[in-house]
Amino acid sequence: MSTMTETKLQAPALSEPHPTLHVYNTLSKKKEPFRTVEPGKVSIYLCGPTVYDKAHIGHMVGPVIFDCIKRYLRYCGYEVTWVVNITDVDDKLIKKANERGITMLEVAEENIADYNFNLQALGVDTIDHFPRATDCMDEIIELIDSLVEQGFAYESQGDVYFEVSKDRGYGKLSNRNVEQMQGEGGETAVLKRGPADFALWKTAKPGEPSWESPWGKGRPGWHIECSAMSRKLLGETFDIHGGGLDLVFPHHENEIAQSECCHSKPMVTYWAHNGLLRASSAAGKVGGRGEREGEVASATGEEAVSGKMSRSKGAGGLAQLIERQGGERIRFFLLRTHYRSTVLFNEPAIEEAGSGLDGFYRLFKRYARITGKDFYELVAPLTREEGEINADSNPVLAAATNCRKKFLTAMDDDFNTGGAIGELFELAKIINKHCDDSQLEGTGQQDTPAIATLERSLITLKELTSILGLFGSAVAKPQTEGEGALLGEVMQLVIDLRAESRAKKNFATADAIRDGVGPIGIVLEDRAGGTEWSGGGADALEAVMRLLIELRQTARATKDFATSDAIRDRLAALGVTLEDRAGGTEWTKA
Ligand SMILES: [Zn+2]
Repeated sequence: MSTMTETKLQAPALSEPHPTLHVYNTLSKKKEPFRTVEPGKVSIYLCGPTVYDKAHIGHMVGPVIFDCIKRYLRYCGYEVTWVVNITDVDDKLIKKANERGITMLEVAEENIADYNFNLQALGVDTIDHFPRATDCMDEIIELIDSLVEQGFAYESQGDVYFEVSKDRGYGKLSNRNVEQMQGEGGETAVLKRGPADFALWKTAKPGEPSWESPWGKGRPGWHIECSAMSRKLLGETFDIHGGGLDLVFPHHENEIAQSECCHSKPMVTYWAHNGLLRASSAAGKVGGRGEREGEVASATGEEAVSGKMSRSKGAGGLAQLIERQGGERIRFFLLRTHYRSTVLFNEPAIEEAGSGLDGFYRLFKRYARITGKDFYELVAPLTREEGEINADSNPVLAAATNCRKKFLTAMDDDFNTGGAIGELFELAKIINKHCDDSQLEGTGQQDTPAIATLERSLITLKELTSILGLFGSAVAKPQTEGEGALLGEVMQLVIDLRAESRAKKNFATADAIRDGVGPIGIVLEDRAGGTEWSGGGADALEAVMRLLIELRQTARATKDFATSDAIRDRLAALGVTLEDRAGGTEWTKA
């Protein structure tokens, strides 16, 4: 056995710390002041997808969070470069290609297109580079070659393994020692010097895609890809390396081993790991302000993995989920929780997040009614300095300033988007109250100080929501077909019924409608041009139908046959038949 090589790392001198920003580092297990390798610049690497199948929502957690982190760092004045790698050569891709009788490249292309569609739908548009493993073969081979030359890796029958016992620092990220590690067993065990050694290069099996190398035809292991691609695009030491908690061991531990043994420099200053998405069957409140802060720090990789969201747990159908819920809702849902916490995923929780968003959409409409202007057209400050508000003695702007301050404090505290979002709700409340107090609606005010206050506070709202990547443009209401379309028609019927009841001074029915839609999560808003509705989740159609059936029964019981007949006839016009049975009334759609 050869002697252990002491790895003395040459750490680069880091910049002065940012005055307020602190970032949690998995390596030190604490929040640290934020410093960068190059002053004013930040380099981020996030482990991306292995593109053998369609993405599920679990794959979007990292991209949404790091998109937000990049936006915030940019807002703080940094120039940020963000890399997400694509693993397009792997056992699973080869298996998929064989099963389907197509090439590995075709499998990859198909799933990269799906991945990009999902990123776009969720508003993730700040990634600078998407390197693919198959495009970086020279760099990968060069890195392996260097590790062999320096004595950290060895060739064994066409495979190349990293010799874990040669790396004194091994295990420092995941807090393991070499004895605790099983390593890859199975058929490769006989080829390895130590059980924890891992493959950097695998010799080609017949019929597999392969590349020429100094060790014969083969393909790279997964871990080496990230070491090679991050070095190629970000250098030997870069600022932030991200990934899910499940990647801490072995993937990131092995990345560190490869890169640091090769370069004798720290690979990364901050290791940032996001909590995983867990499937939960029960609906309920998910996340919130500062919830479970610090809990994730004690969770081990395995604990996180055991319940994590994966395709085998039925997490598929992201495209369908986006179609039903819309990308902005899903993004908002993911950002409501601190990124290191576990996210409990179920569709009602996304709907609940959506009803939170609806409050903002209503505020934007209110602004349009008052001023004739579009919130989405407002130009907001792009940096922290530019966003300072001059509140003077204006109490509304003073309150907005306070919200902004708390929002930024939350973001400075290890990118606590959950806490920051709480301040957005507060700010919206302040702005709505200002509209009420100053009676801005319907009084035709233009160019008054109160309107100027409204606009200035909305500009702050836009500034802060842009950091989270929200409200970049108006979103189309999801559910435009099928059930969603019928819900729209049925809601119009509900709104008409209420208007007719009011006109006939039948306030019992009008009030029953208003009180009935609330628990469904639907908000009615009366305006000069008529009533508009918003909200409602996946079960809204059924709930609204039950409400109509109840209204009809009440109308019959009070001998208000005009109303009960109107409900039946209008539903019939929509193709909905009501059938009175012993157990109650059932509805069917033709
Ligand atoms: Zn990686």
